[in-house]
Amino acid sequence: PNVNLVEVLKTLASEYQSQNNHSNLTVQLPEKPVYIKADADLLKQAIINLLDNAFKYTSNQKTVELKLLSQPHGAIIEVKDNGIGIPQEDLPHIFERFYRVDKARTRNSGGFGLGLAIVKQIVQAHQGEITVNSILENGSTFQIKLPVA
Ligand code: ATP
Ligand code: MG
Repeated sequence: PNVNLVEVLKTLASEYQSQNNHSNLTVQLPEKPVYIKADADLLKQAIINLLDNAFKYTSNQKTVELKLLSQPHGAIIEVKDNGIGIPQEDLPHIFERFYRVDKARTRNSGGFGLGLAIVKQIVQAHQGEITVNSILENGSTFQIKLPVA
């Protein structure tokens, strides 16, 4: 069914913040609705996985940004953090099941290395694409591109 991404993200952001009251999440949404063909619950799960990572891999003064950009042929959902970042050589692998960057640095932050594999599956099921940019010790930006309805 067609869903308005603006509403989906609005609801998600307020639920996320009330469930994680320490989290400092900023949200930037367009004023007009953005319709895509999507399973809203699956899409929410994907974005929650990205937000969980963003907070998990950012130590202090966490500022995580959730943004929706509306483009002529698609929508871009962006999750940006100012955390520990990901080494360039690991970037091609982080969407693989059970892949975790350097066990030493993520030892204290438990996880199976499944979150991003699930995100990728959900995005592909929506004919979308996921990309990442990251600078070590500086932060990471994940973008989900989805075709508009
Ligand atoms: P799970 O999500 O299953 O609880 P996980 O977070 O380790 O475990 P993924 O979400 O798949 O697994 O992420 C894979 C790896 O990519 C992580 O272990 C981490 O090393 C790295 N990573 C993912 N997101 C970020 C981020 N925002 N900043 C820094 N590193 C990240
Ligand atoms: Mg994760």
